[in-house]
Amino acid sequence: MPNPYFVTIECGHCATRHDHREPQTVCRKCRGPLLVKYDLFHPALPSLDELKRRPSGQFRFHEVLPTDHGADTPSLGEGSTPLFKAAGLGRNIWIKDEAQNPTGSFKARGMAVAMARAVDLGLKHFALPSNGNAGGAAAAYGALHGVEVEVIVPRATPQTLIDEPLALGAKVETVEGTIADAARLVASRCESGEVFNLATLREPFRIEGKKMMGYEIFWDLGRLPDVVVYPTGGGTGLIGMVKAFDEMEQLGWIGEERPRMVSVQVDSCAPIVRAFHDGTQHAEPWEDAGETAAYGLRVPSAIGDRLMLEGLRQTGGTAVAVGETEMLEATDRLARDGGVWGSPEGGACLAAVNRLLEGGWMTPEETTVIFNTASATKYR
Ligand SMILES: *Cc1c(COP(=O)(O)O)cnc(C)c1O
Repeated sequence: MPNPYFVTIECGHCATRHDHREPQTVCRKCRGPLLVKYDLFHPALPSLDELKRRPSGQFRFHEVLPTDHGADTPSLGEGSTPLFKAAGLGRNIWIKDEAQNPTGSFKARGMAVAMARAVDLGLKHFALPSNGNAGGAAAAYGALHGVEVEVIVPRATPQTLIDEPLALGAKVETVEGTIADAARLVASRCESGEVFNLATLREPFRIEGKKMMGYEIFWDLGRLPDVVVYPTGGGTGLIGMVKAFDEMEQLGWIGEERPRMVSVQVDSCAPIVRAFHDGTQHAEPWEDAGETAAYGLRVPSAIGDRLMLEGLRQTGGTAVAVGETEMLEATDRLARDGGVWGSPEGGACLAAVNRLLEGGWMTPEETTVIFNTASATKYR
């Protein structure tokens, strides 16, 4: 049964509405990213207390997800990841450990929803560019749903991240260059309409899975944190959490207050950080994105740039680029003092917190959530 609260799909830039009962990619008018809209004022929506009594997992609050099967949407057990205080890292630092998702990264959240919805709409063949983790997650959900997945990755992707989608039954191809080159190849493959493009924000549903991180932080803390520090590539998580907070306000759970959202990137590829500090609405593509251990952050241009920048500014947040050495040292500290053998992207968040504390942008008393977005085992 279709979700009765899922009412339309709207362009994040020009607000043009699109039929939510048909497969959609980007805005047909301005090519902006599409966002899902729900009727959040409906009296039959479950209360916060009712939600807390439901089984955990990403589909706990299926009224704000687009799939036809609600709580019975096929799942590998994604979501409801732990959020814990890491006293060894600071007075009030909390880690949201997304490595505990299926396939060892939070890419599972987006793929669980995007693939389920695409299958609802009758699609059976998918392709996507990936720096590694998205490909593994897409392959896993492809296997779960019994559909075909093709992954295109840059040549520099570690072997583990190529072996994973292969083992899960996907086709994998490598290209010279960055994920932007992989994305161009995928787009050309999908032109005929037979293969559906699952690239970040080229379809409206991956963000719906990722937004659940925003809901979970609120449920687990019992309130909003002061600061949320997020390692940003394509930006689905950042845009998704800002969307979740807006939805929570419509639901009447919170008021106008928001956590200050912080985007973290690496010095060698920081288009959002540069645009934020230049005060521009769009981010120019980053030329010559350098090598980094944080593969998930090597995204030279993102279709969600404008929405990310708006989210950072509207919440009173900021954007920080960290150096490679600084990031790797912080990744070690995340393990030794935090108990999390995490991804360099997770380390990047901790490095950013240090910078922001030193610069006086935030204080150690403020409740701060950082993300470990993948397991270290995926980088071997
Ligand atoms: C994809 C990825 C990111 C970036 O996430 P976005 O929501 O696309 O910005 C960060 N860390 C890891 C490990 C990733 O795989």
